[in-house]
Amino acid sequence: MIIKPRIRGFICTTAHPVGCATNVSAQIEYVRGLDTITGPRNALIVGCSTGYGLASRITAAFGCGSGTLGVSFERAPSESKPGSAGWYNNAAFERRAEQAGLYARTVDGDAFSDEIKQRTIDVIRSDIGEIDLLVYSLASPVRKHPRTGELYRSSIKPLGKVFSSKTLNFDLMSGTAKVVDVELDPAEADEVDATIAVMGGEDWEYWIEALQGAEVLASGFETVAYTYIGNELTWPIYWDGTLGRAKEDLDRAAGEISNKLKDTNGRADVAVLKAVVTQASTAIPVVPLYFSILFRVMKEHDCHEDCIAHIQRLFREQLYSNQLKRTDEIGRIRMDNHELDADIQAEVQRRWSKITTGNVAEFADLRGFREDFFRLFGFGIESVDYDADIDLLTGY
Ligand code: NAD
Repeated sequence: MIIKPRIRGFICTTAHPVGCATNVSAQIEYVRGLDTITGPRNALIVGCSTGYGLASRITAAFGCGSGTLGVSFERAPSESKPGSAGWYNNAAFERRAEQAGLYARTVDGDAFSDEIKQRTIDVIRSDIGEIDLLVYSLASPVRKHPRTGELYRSSIKPLGKVFSSKTLNFDLMSGTAKVVDVELDPAEADEVDATIAVMGGEDWEYWIEALQGAEVLASGFETVAYTYIGNELTWPIYWDGTLGRAKEDLDRAAGEISNKLKDTNGRADVAVLKAVVTQASTAIPVVPLYFSILFRVMKEHDCHEDCIAHIQRLFREQLYSNQLKRTDEIGRIRMDNHELDADIQAEVQRRWSKITTGNVAEFADLRGFREDFFRLFGFGIESVDYDADIDLLTGY
């Protein structure tokens, strides 16, 4: 089959296996080109198949030489329909890890369920004995609660009042973009609770409970969950909105988990990461306009990082370094220091106040945003022959 991108809004329903494998290889080569990090022996990455989770798995494996066990929820290919990008990424990662003699296995299914937690524990017991690191990098719109069976759907809404903002109407296929006004209605109380149930810290705590109960955590075990804070322009829809309430709950969970790990010298951290284009982040209203201005400004200041550069720096500078961690007043690791740099933010704010459809191509990195988006699904890569007939099942 010849696979082309099929895009609706900020969603692409197809993925190219060769392009995905090329992306994974490029990230591996990036990490291999840098100094080795003395990191975990074995790492479990929950949300391992795309975005920051995939970058974490690649950094652990190819930057630290760790064995990695991944958990993700991806769509396998059929004879007539390509698999999801994450499915092809996992396959490519496992191939490369095997060639490099690194342990790698992926458990595919709903990480929120008790069944997948148990299956993961069984694999740890049979294959590697224990883990030294759990990276919690899930981004999901829905969670079936494992104890009550209730289905929660997260919503991405402001709190308290209507949020009026500029936003980007971006036709990703043609590349045409308009800056338009948008009004977003505030969330109801039950929508806030549901978002906390999906994206808050409870499932992270359940993972730790299950792993600790099964005695598969090594002494000195560490766990890190990822969060985003951003700036004033996105606060009403992110940090001060439903998602922010859920992310605050991660901070609570980090404290609870750290307490539980005290006896084994373990700890839990929340790391605040920078904005990057992923399947999860592009789904947030207003955010693509902020991101594309930010990327342009950060690139002009030579401090832009993609997922892999950012996570490699997290491991190198913060998680596995003897230096004092760069933390904020509540103990979160701050990796968003370049994004929130005063000069960068002043320039983003200046452009934001002036941005219109007429100047958006000049003020914002629309090209870079669009390239990043296509790349997530394995498209737009020069070395890939997109007219080649691909066997969807094998990916060749
Ligand atoms: P992503 O969409 O690229 O990755 C999400 C991962 O979660 C995938 O591996 C997917 O398979 C997995 N997943 C989703 N539902 C699952 C389920 N039920 N069971 C098992 N796996 C499931 O997202 P991302 O942007 O890399 O986000 C990862 C984390 O990083 C999130 O906590 C997000 O808030 C945080 N973060 C993202 C950004 C950003 O700009 N993208 C910035 C800061 C922090």
